[in-house]
Amino acid sequence: MKYTFAIHTLGCKVNTYESDAISQSLKERGFEEVNFSERADIYIINTCTVTNIADKKSRQMLHRARKQNPDAIVAAAGCYVDAAMKNESMRQLLSDRTVDIFAANKDKSELLRMIEERLSERDGEGMELFDKDLSCRETAGETSEHGGLHSLSGHTRAFIKIQDGCNQFCSYCIIPYVRGRIRSRDEEDVIREARSLSENGISELVLSGIHLSSYGRDRRDRDESAFPLIELIRKLSLIEGIKRIRLGSLEPRLITEDFARELSSIEKLCPSFHLALQSGSDTVLRRMNRHYTTEEYAESCRLIRKYFQDPSITTDMIVGFPQETEEEFLETLGFAERIGFYEANIFKYSRRAGTVADRMEGQVPEQLKSERSERLIELCEKLSEDYRRSFLGKELEMLCEERKTIDGEEYVTGYTREYVRCLAKTPEFERNRLIRGTAEKILREAGTGEYILLG
Ligand code: SF4
Repeated sequence: MKYTFAIHTLGCKVNTYESDAISQSLKERGFEEVNFSERADIYIINTCTVTNIADKKSRQMLHRARKQNPDAIVAAAGCYVDAAMKNESMRQLLSDRTVDIFAANKDKSELLRMIEERLSERDGEGMELFDKDLSCRETAGETSEHGGLHSLSGHTRAFIKIQDGCNQFCSYCIIPYVRGRIRSRDEEDVIREARSLSENGISELVLSGIHLSSYGRDRRDRDESAFPLIELIRKLSLIEGIKRIRLGSLEPRLITEDFARELSSIEKLCPSFHLALQSGSDTVLRRMNRHYTTEEYAESCRLIRKYFQDPSITTDMIVGFPQETEEEFLETLGFAERIGFYEANIFKYSRRAGTVADRMEGQVPEQLKSERSERLIELCEKLSEDYRRSFLGKELEMLCEERKTIDGEEYVTGYTREYVRCLAKTPEFERNRLIRGTAEKILREAGTGEYILLG
């Protein structure tokens, strides 16, 4: 009998990466993955605790899993488990009888072993393992806290986690208390994983972490004048099958003239940058305990635009932060327009117990947060369209990912180096092929959004 498992992931890209690594380790042992909506023998909820709502959703998914199969093994993993272990007021999760296994972030790479122990306690001799050889890899400690991915069939792009933890202590965020201080992954370990991904058909890497800009800052032998992140990217770019490298969210202060110049010398590095702004008002940024001003942020964008051709700059913004006035919100609107973001994730501030912001006076009413969110979304949609339109008539490069039919017409789709979605009418489809074409027009598909048509 083959055991089935299903994973539900909440939260950030690092969680997604770690879920992929967990899924891979189970599949290699012969477990079969099914959709979360189906009945499974094992359910894993990779939880998030970034807001009180994330906690609630995590609990809901754990209970839903138990309801779908009362006999299943239900595992809670990740940040909410860490928070419950450290925070008295959240401890009730650990006595929730719905859950059989609790795995904090540092234990995620042990989940397979925990599940197998549970199965063998429950099913004894009846438990069938499918590939006993692979257990050596786990017990020999080949997997690290950071996990590791090496087979993603049918994909062109893979996230690769190079860092964990954060020392920034933004006033609204619980993550530094939950994931702990910064830890960089060993360079050789990352390169080994990237090679393996490339051998398995991945041609685009996205480097991710909780605070990517801190990569290498925890190294004892660190040379203060060097950029460990750039050194890593340079080495990854030497892997033959890797055609493109992207970066996850960067801290604006990291982008100095030297950093931008060096980065731009790596050809495979894509000109798409995510710089989390959070607010376009300096007074709000101070209350958020962000460590930059809007002028410093604007300077980072200027440097990116100086060293890269038509780069895309994307961001995250929070509206309705405690005490946010209409004037401060207008500053955010004005600043977003000044920078001209390609895309923005807009969040209504959501309280998180245990953070400084949660204890601040002047919490903004939900209705006002919704209104501000709608106004900012409307502006950002226009900015996004402006950016896409700025490519019309220019030559773009697309990495082919899949086929698509729109209004009865057959296309190949993929992303440009700037991470803009494209379509082309090439007769033959070959995943991972780079093709070039001139941006002819914008095509819209109901439900999925816009594409640039390459001719
Ligand atoms: S940088 Fe700020 S928002 Fe991001 S994980 Fe660290 S504390 Fe949280």
